[in-house]
Amino acid sequence: MITDYTEFCEQIKNCKSCRLEQTRNNAVCGEGIIPTKLMFIAQAPGRTEDKKGKMFIGPSGKIFDQLLCSIGLNRNEIYLTNLLKCFLPKCRKPRHDEMNICYNNFLKHEIGIVKPEIIITLGFHVTRYIFEAYNLPIPNKFEIKNMFGKIFFAKNQKILPLKHPATIVHKSKSFDNLKQDYQILKTLLNPCPKLKECKIPKQYKKGLLTEDYIEQFCYGIWEKCKYYDF
Ligand code: SF4
Ligand code: SF4
Repeated sequence: MITDYTEFCEQIKNCKSCRLEQTRNNAVCGEGIIPTKLMFIAQAPGRTEDKKGKMFIGPSGKIFDQLLCSIGLNRNEIYLTNLLKCFLPKCRKPRHDEMNICYNNFLKHEIGIVKPEIIITLGFHVTRYIFEAYNLPIPNKFEIKNMFGKIFFAKNQKILPLKHPATIVHKSKSFDNLKQDYQILKTLLNPCPKLKECKIPKQYKKGLLTEDYIEQFCYGIWEKCKYYDF
């Protein structure tokens, strides 16, 4: 697996499949534990990441580490990567053809290697693209605001959109605001503590509860289950 992964990273570093190879310094590979429960997907390397060829080491990365720490996690327990492996010149928006090429060349296979239980998409463009790739309804910029912090299901995959840590760097959100959103991950790390004694999931077998409900709450955001306090 490691040999395969090393080879996979070499392919990323040498990739010239889209126009971004002309302006990048380094294509940046994903980093973290394989396989893992949580796979975070950010948009693209920033200036510092492009210079050093490492994941999330600039200002957004520092905030990301603090957010992880606030829920008792660190980078050694997750996998972190980008949708685009190369820097976007002048920090412009990603183009659809660039995302298509990089996803089909790399991210699609990377997800297959990492086998995450939950894919966490960071920010608008990544969420939109992953929803498209997984045949989910593609959100517009107004709909996305209500999607952060909710779980979506596609192709046996849980997808959780969260705001990008850069929203603090660009001062559109406060740290406390973002920290609150990231708390959901704490809940998702384990199934509902009442799962063994709770009678509700048994209703599923009788057809009174949907599989989606079980996935969304019993193995998802159980704190928000309407039966949790009963
Ligand atoms: S962004 Fe992706 S597809 Fe484009 S050159 Fe970089 S690694 Fe290759
Ligand atoms: S999430 Fe709700 S239905 Fe599922 S086990 Fe917990 S309390 Fe019961």
